[in-house]
Amino acid sequence: MNDITVDSTEHRRVLAVMAHPDDAEFACVGTLVRLARAGWEVHIATVAVGDCGTTTESPEAIAARRAEEAKRSATLIGATYHCLDERDGFVVYDKPTLRKCVDLFRRVAPRVVFTHAAEDYMMDHVMTSLLCRAASFLYAAPNASTLPLLPGSQVPHLYYCDPVEGVDSLGRLVEPTTYVDVSAVLEEKAGMLACHASQREWLRAHHGTDEYLDAMRRHVRMRGRQTAVEAAEAFVQHRGHAYPRDDLLVELFGSQP
Ligand SMILES: [Zn+2]
Repeated sequence: MNDITVDSTEHRRVLAVMAHPDDAEFACVGTLVRLARAGWEVHIATVAVGDCGTTTESPEAIAARRAEEAKRSATLIGATYHCLDERDGFVVYDKPTLRKCVDLFRRVAPRVVFTHAAEDYMMDHVMTSLLCRAASFLYAAPNASTLPLLPGSQVPHLYYCDPVEGVDSLGRLVEPTTYVDVSAVLEEKAGMLACHASQREWLRAHHGTDEYLDAMRRHVRMRGRQTAVEAAEAFVQHRGHAYPRDDLLVELFGSQP
């Protein structure tokens, strides 16, 4: 797609594009911690600002608070937080949002990308997955954006994170292609998730338990049991035409079901 090449050992940038602040922490941040420790440059993006994540605050107040929480979480692993400034519940696959997404890819030039499963419980997640799939295919075409083409721009390894509870929108179990052992970084993952205090407090008040962190721990332990480790994050790799089909995460971290 372009003639700008770069040594693959130098091209170590990863981008997670999720719908809402805290989605990455649930779905893939253990893997991001491992990549950061291996010297990768980590970028975490959300399409929406998180303005519906409250029962008491104004949209502006909660969005500002959640941006701070997301930045604080990203900072813990030296990652950069980006937001495409869409509204909760109104993430759609349209031209303006796709342009923003392509420009984000253009600025980062990721070699590895994480996003939501193509089928998930909430339409913001589904739309984000579509936007990310389209942008990952398109961004390295020189004419796709007016932003400069960075060295290393190419169709990236694309991984879909587990949907919520590991089931798709029809309740079917998702069968992962790829597991990453996050046992050794589970507390870092929990620490980053805990940065999202506005959401944790809300669930704690509602459930009377620390359901926010408990749900995350239950899920990674469930995935861990499937691959004989304490805790794992699970992914489905996109292997359609033009995408790399080698499983880079397995090459890097060696985890297998
Ligand atoms: Zn979400």
